[in-house]
Amino acid sequence: MMKFPLTLDHLLDRGGRLFPDSEIVSRLPDKSVHRERYSDFHRRACALGSSLRRLGLKRGERVATLMWNHYAHLEAYFGVPCAGGVLHTLNLRLHPDDIAYIAQHAGDRFLIIDDVLLPLLEKFRDRAGFEKVIVVPLTGAPVPRGCDDYEKLVATARPLRIPPLREEDPAGMCYTSGTTGRPKGVVYSHRALVLHSFAAALPDVMGLANADSVCPVVPMFHVNAWGIPFAAVMVGAKLVFPGPHLDAVSLLDLYRSEGVTLTAGVPTIWMGILQALEAEPGRWQLTHGMRMVVGGAAVPESMIRAFDRFGLRVLHGWGMTETTPVGTVNYLKRDVTTAGEDERYALRAKQGVPLPFFEVRAMTERGPAPWDGNSMGELQVRGPWVAAAYHGLDAEQDKWTEDGWFRTGDVVTIDARGYVKITDRIKDLVKSGGEWISSVDLENALVGHPKVSEAAVIAVPHAKWGERPLAIVVLKAGNAATADELREYLAPRFPNFWLPDDVAFVSEIPRSSTGKMMKAVLREQFKDCKSRNQ
Ligand code: AMP
Repeated sequence: MMKFPLTLDHLLDRGGRLFPDSEIVSRLPDKSVHRERYSDFHRRACALGSSLRRLGLKRGERVATLMWNHYAHLEAYFGVPCAGGVLHTLNLRLHPDDIAYIAQHAGDRFLIIDDVLLPLLEKFRDRAGFEKVIVVPLTGAPVPRGCDDYEKLVATARPLRIPPLREEDPAGMCYTSGTTGRPKGVVYSHRALVLHSFAAALPDVMGLANADSVCPVVPMFHVNAWGIPFAAVMVGAKLVFPGPHLDAVSLLDLYRSEGVTLTAGVPTIWMGILQALEAEPGRWQLTHGMRMVVGGAAVPESMIRAFDRFGLRVLHGWGMTETTPVGTVNYLKRDVTTAGEDERYALRAKQGVPLPFFEVRAMTERGPAPWDGNSMGELQVRGPWVAAAYHGLDAEQDKWTEDGWFRTGDVVTIDARGYVKITDRIKDLVKSGGEWISSVDLENALVGHPKVSEAAVIAVPHAKWGERPLAIVVLKAGNAATADELREYLAPRFPNFWLPDDVAFVSEIPRSSTGKMMKAVLREQFKDCKSRNQ
């Protein structure tokens, strides 16, 4: 066979040539809608690449973005790597000090930024070392002096001469969201992004097709919006970008007006969507069977059931910054289609089956755990889109085993059918009297209670048992509940020693910039909370 490189310029060219009329719809900060066709996108992405080279971008150099999800970000997704550069998506929700650290650590040379985010840049620009700042004039306001105008660069560019790209060349970069410790950088090769696109598009993964209308709500700065922009362009799907308006009503309006068939985001987004649908069940006429890819944190079974009632299908997936990110996705294999309803829902709440070329094992001190659905171990993974190192951090090499697997830090069981179930992060497990208790299982059960909106379970010290679980609960507006009422609700579902000794009711659970519960903050907040059974 020919040796043909797996590089992103092929996807860009294919998109422009084969699907010139596919649409890219973006909602802008003023809520107006911007539309362009793939033929425009192709031309403009090449023009951006050409301008970056004229400004001096060299092979392998990093171009940062600080942008919402919209057409110009998509142009950068392809324009930067096709010019030989590395697209480094900065997380605009981080503290300015962290963004400055990350931009400096990555050695970002240029920055492309939405004009509406310029006030954020002012808070850290002096510490970041960008040589050039290119402003996307989304609001039409004049571009400040000392910055380049994105639209002018694109309009005046010469044709792009794509440099010879190798598939192992770096194309993208993202830092871990790091609920503890400093964020760590992961560099994605062209090859990893292309292979990940093929896998993501498979029918039993996201099932992306040309006829789809795809709306990534997951930010384009959160692990390449889970690879969806690359895979969608590969198949020529319509793309619908929400811009900065991520409230439930704005999203539901967009789904309806653009006929969205596939969307993706973290569970917190869907909690809001569900509440809006339940409050006004007849208001939005959505595409029946719209797929919702949900990941980044565990999806409670009650959420999957609730969306089913609205004819919307949750696709539960698992991934990490270090895995590009998708590693497992849940679908019902043909051998489970005859299972009873409860068994099917319990299965669908698991994190799913590994993608092709994505290998998993649950590692214990005695070796890999059997795939029996009970034996827990650390999830270790390997495959062509799993990172082999962190950018510029030799000290972290112990995250990889000697036999070449990546240690995820997640504790899992794997059942005989190959379904992976996350029981916890290693550091979040509760160890009571020598036995492990899964905080994720308790949380998922608690949010199934009709009065509970959100729940976190953490370990608190206990004189006799070492640790005991404490539940921290946010109730739905206008509801009251007692700790005993919630314990009674959990009692038939778990062994007695799993039941939280106490429940703290709070108004909010702290979440990270990518929607994860910040348990380290909760542990600090509740560190003096004694179990009521001691
Ligand atoms: P990040 O690198 O920020 O995407 O975070 C990756 C981590 O998020 C994983 O190691 C898991 O702990 C968690 N995670 C991602 N998807 C899921 C999921 N579907 N269920 C439970 N935890 C998840």
